[in-house]
Amino acid sequence: MARTFLSADFLRRAGISVATPSDPEYDTRRATFNGLIDRRPTLVATCSSSADVAAVINHARESGLPVSVRGGGHSVAGHCIGDGAAVVDLSGMRQVRVDATNRLAIAGGGATWLEYDTATQKFGLASTGGTFTDTGIGGLTLGGGIGYLQGTLGFAVDSLVAVEMVTADGEIIRASDRENADLFWAIRGGGGNFGVVTSFEYRVHPVGELYGGVIAYPVADAAKMLRLARDLAAGAADELVLQAVLSTSRETRDEVAAIIVCFQGSVSAGERAIAPLRNTLQPVLDALRPLTYNEMQATSAPFPFGLRHYWKGQFLSEFPDEMVDMAVEEFHRRPVPSLSTLLFEFIEGAPNRVPAPTMAFNHRGARFNVSALGIWEDPAQDTGQIEWARRFAGALTPGSAGASYVNYMNADEPSERVRLAYGDQKFDRLRQIKKRYDPDNIFRFNQNILPAV
Ligand SMILES: Cc1cc2nc3c(=O)[nH]c(=O)nc-3n(C[C@H](O)[C@H](O)[C@H](O)COP(=O)(O)OP(=O)(O)OC[C@H]3O[C@@H](n4cnc5c(N)ncnc54)[C@H](O)[C@@H]3O)c2cc1C
Repeated sequence: MARTFLSADFLRRAGISVATPSDPEYDTRRATFNGLIDRRPTLVATCSSSADVAAVINHARESGLPVSVRGGGHSVAGHCIGDGAAVVDLSGMRQVRVDATNRLAIAGGGATWLEYDTATQKFGLASTGGTFTDTGIGGLTLGGGIGYLQGTLGFAVDSLVAVEMVTADGEIIRASDRENADLFWAIRGGGGNFGVVTSFEYRVHPVGELYGGVIAYPVADAAKMLRLARDLAAGAADELVLQAVLSTSRETRDEVAAIIVCFQGSVSAGERAIAPLRNTLQPVLDALRPLTYNEMQATSAPFPFGLRHYWKGQFLSEFPDEMVDMAVEEFHRRPVPSLSTLLFEFIEGAPNRVPAPTMAFNHRGARFNVSALGIWEDPAQDTGQIEWARRFAGALTPGSAGASYVNYMNADEPSERVRLAYGDQKFDRLRQIKKRYDPDNIFRFNQNILPAV
């Protein structure tokens, strides 16, 4: 404990804002998105520069403390806050600079998508980002990054061209295809296992006219809606990206069966592309319209921090009719009252054309990411919600591509599931790289990759 005080005092003297358990703001600063998680770090240090991050890592290492990294704070597993850890909180590093001439955006490691999209869209530019504006670019990009522009631009990680990061020994380095290329390969999918990314450099692309929003159907037509979305996505141009949800309205508490549409192109082309969504079934709500990318990104309102979450799903290579029917049945079996949702992300186009060896992210070619998102308030539902999400994810196994999406995985995933997320060959290479850059596994609050022995 004495060492902790020494570290905290040292860091404060270096101008870093630090909260320890005796500080009144400690509880606010250790809060994570998921109310199911209640972890007590040794200290939370809010960093404003790479030098601050290096100072925290050096002092954590010298004090024998592991390090957890808080980007946007939205890890459902709560990985950003570790019990006993020194938390590197990047909320002081959210600036975004756009180099429109070279089509690059350089963003601080703690930026959210709202900050990133606002800055890039001022120049009519964008790269694929998360579909909730308040999630962090950090965790989301390093785990892959499913988003509305993926059909043409790939996942968020596919636009990453370089990073500045601080390693476990406190060194500030760059990684790209040309500098520390092995590390750059590893972080693109390997998450926060290898160091703290203080600056992300993305290739950005012109993104102008969009047509999209939400179209909803009677819940009684949920199975037909899911088949329709699946079949439309399968044959669609890259410009059309679809997600489907079976959920509960946060406003009315009514059940909802809806498709979220993002089409990159003109109104007339968009209307033609989505015509089957209007002509095959009778919608109860049709809010599809021309919109800006930032309006598209605001389609789903952020969730407040503190709700309880347990998410579980699988990448699928097939989503046959029997599985659609199972999903609808399971939706009706979710514990209520709750906001628990089934999410169907259709993955076609650019993400599946990136050669798998390019980076650690695996499972190119999995055409669906299907997940139960248990979301509830009452602790009395904890067991029921967790059982429901697990049962649903288990029932997806016949269509499974063999793994789950690391960014949706829980804290209780066995290491074998983490290995499966990368496949044996990539996982073994990741362990070698981990051994080189973080042999003592100080970055262990993540879907952890143990250093090779
Ligand atoms: C409401 C909601 C919506 C979501 N929507 C999407 C979506 O549309 N698409 C999608 O793909 N995923 C989505 N996700 C999942 C999301 O990708 C993960 O939750 C991700 O971890 C969020 O990143 P963060 O920076 O906010 O997380 P944090 O909790 O801050 O960080 C999680 C972990 O990521 C690592 N990390 C974060 N920042 C850095 C950094 N700068 N350097 C090194 N490591 C870092 C660390 O290991 C950290 O523990 C969503 C999650 C939520 C809760």
